[in-house]
Amino acid sequence: MWIIANWKSNKTIAEALDWISQIGPQIPKSEKLRVIVCPTFDALSEVKKAIIVGNFPLLVGAQDLSPFGTGAYTGEEPVQTLSQFIDFVIVGHSERRQNFGETDEMIAKKVVQALDNNITPLVCVQDENTPVPEGCKLVVFEPVFAIGTGNPDTPENADEIAKKLKEKYGDGLEVLYGGSVNSQNVKGFISKPNISGVLVGNASLDAEEFVKICKNCAL
Ligand code: PEP
Repeated sequence: MWIIANWKSNKTIAEALDWISQIGPQIPKSEKLRVIVCPTFDALSEVKKAIIVGNFPLLVGAQDLSPFGTGAYTGEEPVQTLSQFIDFVIVGHSERRQNFGETDEMIAKKVVQALDNNITPLVCVQDENTPVPEGCKLVVFEPVFAIGTGNPDTPENADEIAKKLKEKYGDGLEVLYGGSVNSQNVKGFISKPNISGVLVGNASLDAEEFVKICKNCAL
């Protein structure tokens, strides 16, 4: 079961460390639960350090990465430097597709960068027709209407899309759901047979709410 916190462009380093110190000791220690926090790039180093020092059952991810490696790509974050801190990366979030013109080709290049460097990519798909790049074994179904709106999809529809994705790309593909997940509705999604976890945006910013989400998933 994957529970992924996507902070988007939020939290100073001090706020990030406060969140880690609050939730770290409360995350249920379970083999089945993989809890990942995705801070802004500038907080990655400190967040990673705090997790190691606290020996917390948390992994670190980035919210994006460069489609290129190291070199003359001003402003980009290549996987070779990110991998000092991360095990995981979100790729192709709909906010990046909408606001930064990210295309399926760029997303496929980012997936290659991640896989070549042993980083697990989580590709965001908007429906069963969004292409899943070769080699990608983890996707999140995120209907645009549900992101940041407080208006989630139904667990039944999310499960149906997850099933279609698995039929198309093979049973080895794990499918998560994302879009207005909170501690009240998370169980409805994770109890579905084709859904392997959740990506949480707004509700992950509040440490107490995020702990509740994790505890509800561990039950
Ligand atoms: C997201 O950032 O991917 C997301 C699902 O956001 P929210 O939970 O706020 O809808």
